[in-house]
Amino acid sequence: MWKADVIVIGGGLAGCEAAWQLAQRDLKVSLVEMKPVLMSKAHQTPLLCELVCSNSLRSNEPVAGAGLLKQELRRAGSMVIDSADANSVPAGSALAVERFGFGRTVTQRLALHPNVRLERRVVSELSLDTPTIIATGPLTGGGLAGKIRDLFGGDKLFFYDAIAPIVSADSIDPETSFRASRWGKDQSEGGDYINCPLDKDLYYEFVREIQGARKIVPHEFEEKHFFEGCLPIEVMVSRGEDVLRYGPMRPVGLDDPRTGRWPYALIQLRPENQYRTSYNMVGFQTRMAYPEQKRIFSMVPALANAEFLRFGSIHRNTFVDSPRLMGPQMQLIDQPNIRFAGLITGVEGYIESCAMGMMAALFTEASIRGRTLEIPPETTALGGLYNHIARPRAKDEKFGPTNINFGLMPGLSVRAKKKDRKRMIAERAYADLSPWLTSIEPVSAG
Ligand SMILES: Cc1cc2nc3c(=O)[nH]c(=O)nc-3n(C[C@H](O)[C@H](O)[C@H](O)COP(=O)(O)OP(=O)(O)OC[C@H]3O[C@@H](n4cnc5c(N)ncnc54)[C@H](O)[C@@H]3O)c2cc1C
Repeated sequence: MWKADVIVIGGGLAGCEAAWQLAQRDLKVSLVEMKPVLMSKAHQTPLLCELVCSNSLRSNEPVAGAGLLKQELRRAGSMVIDSADANSVPAGSALAVERFGFGRTVTQRLALHPNVRLERRVVSELSLDTPTIIATGPLTGGGLAGKIRDLFGGDKLFFYDAIAPIVSADSIDPETSFRASRWGKDQSEGGDYINCPLDKDLYYEFVREIQGARKIVPHEFEEKHFFEGCLPIEVMVSRGEDVLRYGPMRPVGLDDPRTGRWPYALIQLRPENQYRTSYNMVGFQTRMAYPEQKRIFSMVPALANAEFLRFGSIHRNTFVDSPRLMGPQMQLIDQPNIRFAGLITGVEGYIESCAMGMMAALFTEASIRGRTLEIPPETTALGGLYNHIARPRAKDEKFGPTNINFGLMPGLSVRAKKKDRKRMIAERAYADLSPWLTSIEPVSAG
């Protein structure tokens, strides 16, 4: 009689990778997928690992965050990336796939695996006795989201994702910005924030450009209303030209050292990581199209040459407050048999979800075998992504999803020319991953 060692709920990017890793490590896996019994508004086929939108898994170049993560996943024996490689279509330096071929390859590999039982049903209850990985993604269905919320007994599950852009620290112009915290509080290293001032004429020109900018149209199933505390900037400017100046762009308490006065308006940038290599545009969640964000934000002198590590976006999502719910081995602190994987842990994107599927599986296997898994080094893409969801947060620090970017890894300890930095960070990651790979003993990907 079949008795699963691990239940994986959700046969998407994360769940398929997790199931494969566990099965290849001689554990019996029940992989439970609700399609085709219940289809979300975005999923259209019964295939596992369905790409719901773009067929691109982004860059293949290790000097880009997505490329580096893929390289690491390949070395760690990722079945999902191997299946993507096997179904790739020409896309320059990106890895794009023929989506049905990709879905078929993954489905066949799992369906034929002797340690996997593929069950097509909707999970709406959680069994807490068997080790379980929940990888049900942004469109978790069948009432399971409610059960997850009940499990936490509090408000630790979010359904909406409002993301502000992130810029690389070394691309912010120090001549036209200044460091300061409001009212001179927290003056560590000259203030925690970098402030990017705008004079009166520029402020109104900036606002008018936002009013006229091209916006991304929400999907039919996405909510059309926003939380008042987290409004997109385009909604704010539609309410009046001065709303931003009294909201996220308010200058009060921020003396510009060059003038000794508060600017007319400013954009505040807050460190996104402990290394201060990337900064978040505070309160600038937006639905403007990416090229429009680049064009309009570059109007601000301090951001004229800003490198955007991530653009703003707002979309339907489901993710848990991972840093506050999970222990270091990705186990739920109150229910150590349960782990989350994929987008629901607070990462963004196909390959990031796959990476978190692999990590959840490795942690689960280690726990079943009575071991503790080594954490991947923080200098690697896998380690940086893991740190994002696991790093303890201050009580009032908001947690939100991220995609992989170089800002998640520490900067270099040696001086280097800007054009060489990413290559050097990628080389460091390559070298630092090797001992960790030895510790996990990668399985065959196909
Ligand atoms: C409309 C939309 C467009 C997107 N476009 C992109 C894009 O272009 N590029 C990108 O990188 N990312 C995109 N994303 C994000 C994308 O969803 C993730 O990158 C990735 O699919 C997440 O992987 P996952 O494994 O966590 O979830 P998914 O891939 O969504 O897999 C979750 C699986 O769980 C199943 N499931 C859900 N609930 C249950 C249940 N109760 N019982 C059993 N099974 C269940 C679902 O049917 C699904 O197969 C998009 C998301 C949405 C919603």
